[in-house]
Amino acid sequence: MKSRVYFISVGSSQSQQVINQKLKRLIDESKVLDFIHKNDKVALKLHFGEEGNTGFVRPQHVRVVSDAAIGRGGDVFLTDNNTLYRGRRSNSKDHLKLAYEHGFTKEVTNADVIIPDDTQEKNVACVEINQKFIKSAKVARIFIDIDAFIAVSHFKGHILTGFGGALKNVGMGCATRQGKLAQHCDLAPIVHADRCIGCGECEIICPVKAIKLVNKKSVVDNAKCIGCASCLAVCPTMAMFIDFNAGSQLQDKMVEYSLAVLKDKKEKSGFINFAIKINKECDCWGTQNPRIAPDVGILASNDPVSIDQASFDLVNKACGKDIFKAAHPEQDGTKQLRYAQGIGLGSLDYELIKL
Ligand code: SF4
Ligand code: SF4
Repeated sequence: MKSRVYFISVGSSQSQQVINQKLKRLIDESKVLDFIHKNDKVALKLHFGEEGNTGFVRPQHVRVVSDAAIGRGGDVFLTDNNTLYRGRRSNSKDHLKLAYEHGFTKEVTNADVIIPDDTQEKNVACVEINQKFIKSAKVARIFIDIDAFIAVSHFKGHILTGFGGALKNVGMGCATRQGKLAQHCDLAPIVHADRCIGCGECEIICPVKAIKLVNKKSVVDNAKCIGCASCLAVCPTMAMFIDFNAGSQLQDKMVEYSLAVLKDKKEKSGFINFAIKINKECDCWGTQNPRIAPDVGILASNDPVSIDQASFDLVNKACGKDIFKAAHPEQDGTKQLRYAQGIGLGSLDYELIKL
């Protein structure tokens, strides 16, 4: 059965005020947040952007979403989990500070920010899903102890999953650091020593100090590696490789984690994708993140698979080619969509309703 995906176009020259008016119209006419009822505790899942990143969804747009949820009676908070890599988002204190620096204050968004500390066991929920790769998913308890869930996602490219939208925001974003590690754990890179020129760029960028130069050649400590792929991106000679068969399992695991978060919220979840400021890499990248597509617009749906499929189709239509494949030739990002449909998260088949 086709799911409904609502779409409103946004041009790159449009002001924040105009975009907000369009977003409000999208939410009101699509009714995608009408599942929120009085006193529902609502998690609004975001990515607050790594330091230096400019692609994340603006707090002024998030205000429109939080106001809409509050207007329907919800008790709303903004949230994200800490990252595996070392950066400004790897612990709750710094993560919260960065979210404020990026403008996600209560004055701007009308909602508090909560970054759960997953080093405390009470904040971790083990969700039994018994799927092919993940039997028990470790997600932040905050996403389980709620009545309703909204994912506001920036649709963009991704070095390991081709592209990232709602499923990436939910599956990777709601996982605790241990859960993220479980998804990435097969992805330690292999160094082709004959290509390594010993420049040390990989050693500098590695967020967990898993790389050392030995006799002017890069050596990876697999026990420390978190599979973030940052070293691949900086290597000037393409000496670093990842087994992309293992990489394609990352998509499956990420989707299984999405199931862990959403399985009890089929009637209580909504998704909004911003297909604007479409960068090559995700919002964890502070720099070296070029735009790869024109702004397309904003989408809304109650189906996380349909909204990502529709976002993918609309962006590629605007570009006249598969821009995500062009940006990341080794990845087939559509695998996550097929797998998600296969495990019952939603439908690849959608009806696009243009407002
Ligand atoms: S993928 Fe590379 S940069 Fe990332 S943790 Fe592993 S060795 Fe370090
Ligand atoms: S970035 Fe590439 S070339 Fe430079 S040390 Fe690392 S593997 Fe070798």
